[in-house]
Amino acid sequence: MGGNSVLYDKIIKGRSIKKDYKEVALTGYVKHKLRTVKTSQFFLKEGPLAILPFSKNYFSFVWSINKDFYENNSKKINNLAKSKIKNILKIKKNIQITNTQSYPLKLNLKTKYFNKNLLILGEGLHTIHPIAGQGFNLVLRDIKKLKEILKYYSQLGISFKNSFALDDFYAQRKIENIVFGLGVDVTHAFFKQNKYLDPFKEMILKNISKNNVVKKISKIISNQGLSI
Ligand SMILES: Cc1cc2nc3c(=O)[nH]c(=O)nc-3n(C[C@H](O)[C@H](O)[C@H](O)COP(=O)(O)OP(=O)(O)OC[C@H]3O[C@@H](n4cnc5c(N)ncnc54)[C@H](O)[C@@H]3O)c2cc1C
Repeated sequence: MGGNSVLYDKIIKGRSIKKDYKEVALTGYVKHKLRTVKTSQFFLKEGPLAILPFSKNYFSFVWSINKDFYENNSKKINNLAKSKIKNILKIKKNIQITNTQSYPLKLNLKTKYFNKNLLILGEGLHTIHPIAGQGFNLVLRDIKKLKEILKYYSQLGISFKNSFALDDFYAQRKIENIVFGLGVDVTHAFFKQNKYLDPFKEMILKNISKNNVVKKISKIISNQGLSI
């Protein structure tokens, strides 16, 4: 049911780690005729714009922008996105943007996952900023772990109702979900424009991009999580 259902508060009573980024993610599909488009992210002054190819002539984009900027430009936001994309990819011809949608961006990390035999899964457990493209990865890792735990109890012949399956799931997933959620929050803060800190950030990023070990570790963590 996504991240915003009121049902979750009825299932679990407990505080969660919350933050309103006061940003909106504008998403859409772009049809193009370029030979190759690589998955990439551009840190524009209005906010990060990710390009995510999904077939030969299409890519999707995610542009995270300040809520006020979005509201002040809502009528021309698609055209603004179009000209930014044309500019960064050096496209001269017209491009088509379709399926545009917008999402308010929030951080919400639950500190309780279940009540009796009712478990929350997906965005309901952790809503994070899309800057690192990790939200659904966390959900998939949750599902993989839940499958392993349920298999373990069913092989012992213990009914799920009488098992510690949900306690085990909570214990084994909570730390990674919180560390990732907060890590993405720090990443978002790091990439926010700041005219005093930007020269230092550039230096740090240049050093990271030269360091193959750091790049390799960050790729492994993004792809496989912390329980590698
Ligand atoms: C802009 C953006 C970019 C993202 N990019 C990435 C990325 O690159 N990589 C990544 O790993 N993750 C990414 N994510 C995160 C990813 O989209 C979510 O983690 C994932 O969609 C969560 O799945 P979900 O099923 O929990 O919720 P959702 O995908 O939100 O699905 C919930 C569904 O339930 C439906 N629903 C709600 N209430 C009801 C109801 N009462 N009855 C019936 N249906 C209902 C909704 O309409 C919706 O279709 C991104 C998120 C955003 C907002």
